[in-house]
Amino acid sequence: MDEYLERIKAGSLKLYALEQELPPEEAVALRRRYIEEETGVSLAKVGSFSIGIDRVARKNCENMVGTVQVPVGVAGPLLVRGEYATGRFYLPLATTEGALVASVNRGCAAITRAGGAEVRILRDGMTRAPVFSTRSVAHAREVADWVASHPDEIARAAESTTSHGKFLGATCTVVGTSVFVRMEFDTKDAMGMNMVTIGSEKAAEVISAATGARLVALSGNLCTDKKPAAVNVVRGRGRSVVAGVFLADDLIASVLKTDARSLVEVNTRKNLLGSAAAGSLGFNAHAANVVAALFIACGQDPAHVVEGSLATTTADPAEGGVYVAVTLPDLPVGTVGGGTGVETQAECLSLLGVAGSGDPPGTHARRFAEIVAAGVLAGELSLLSALAAQHLARAHKTLGR
Ligand code: NAP
Repeated sequence: MDEYLERIKAGSLKLYALEQELPPEEAVALRRRYIEEETGVSLAKVGSFSIGIDRVARKNCENMVGTVQVPVGVAGPLLVRGEYATGRFYLPLATTEGALVASVNRGCAAITRAGGAEVRILRDGMTRAPVFSTRSVAHAREVADWVASHPDEIARAAESTTSHGKFLGATCTVVGTSVFVRMEFDTKDAMGMNMVTIGSEKAAEVISAATGARLVALSGNLCTDKKPAAVNVVRGRGRSVVAGVFLADDLIASVLKTDARSLVEVNTRKNLLGSAAAGSLGFNAHAANVVAALFIACGQDPAHVVEGSLATTTADPAEGGVYVAVTLPDLPVGTVGGGTGVETQAECLSLLGVAGSGDPPGTHARRFAEIVAAGVLAGELSLLSALAAQHLARAHKTLGR
């Protein structure tokens, strides 16, 4: 092994190229040793892990030196009444925020006792929006017109790269001489960013060849991937999901320690008015908390938490209680590909009955999306109630410090 270290130090072997000469397990250990020696910092804990890394070091993480471990707690059982997810689920939540799991757990208890969360998927489509340069504004309009009138040609090109992805359509936005073509795909059980990027590249070639528009960038930011953007809220991205539950007055008092009127008032003044006053794109209490904890546990791309946080929580006064709902227009999730195959993450997906491909394809990812939405609803209920009952600081003092 010292021979490899010498070659790295001499510059004749790149640190990132160790896997080309050694099995992944040895390459990762040697790289860690090199970094430890160079920096004088022990990475003993980072180097101690249970996952198999053959695939991880090739597909998920370059220059790998080990792993970090994030505690996973369970909240539940959570009764979900979706079209794809039906039954009781234990949610695996990966977090270091004390009080989060306990809080979501309380929301799960309220929902389950209330008869479960109704969940529906409103639309389903992952997007990529290349940007093209055109000669003039007139040419830009021609390009947009060509895209609108040639869906079959674009679909043929886009779908030639995937056996699962289905092209759903494209919408064009013209800004001066730039044309953004926002292409949308049904990605079945994949979150789909790689799939749609590869498909969009083929489609972009066809658009360029037919119109003379020059492809500037395969991602033109109107997609919009991993940034908070109104276009995703308005048009949807990934799975767009809504979850709701009716809570009767006695249940609100016994489980959530508050009342319907206070819940509605906190939701209106905080989630709706406060968010509007702040110019926020998220009109919720802490959707990102549940999305992040589930995403990390279940091998999703954590950068997509920014999109999952674009949720709106509503609380409608109703006879004898309140109907609370969360709407998540932009939830990029998958049960195949990306980090879903890492063994610990795959176990967490299995806990929800959604690891790997569904039968038919797409049903696992949709089931997972419904469960995430119900989990977000649980988190919203619990935090709103804690605020309504003035319990928030107390819970954090007891559990988080
Ligand atoms: P992926 O890891 O590229 O794998 C998805 C592939 O799995 C599909 O393309 C499909 O192959 C295959 N597959 C097998 N069974 C399937 C099923 N039941 N449903 C759907 N597909 C099935 O995953 P991805 O979801 O496309 O991309 C996720 C990765 O992209 C993550 O690692 C994420 O971090 C990364 N990412 C990439 C970009 C980018 O710009 N490229 C941006 C953000 C994130 P076929 O297509 O051959 O059918």
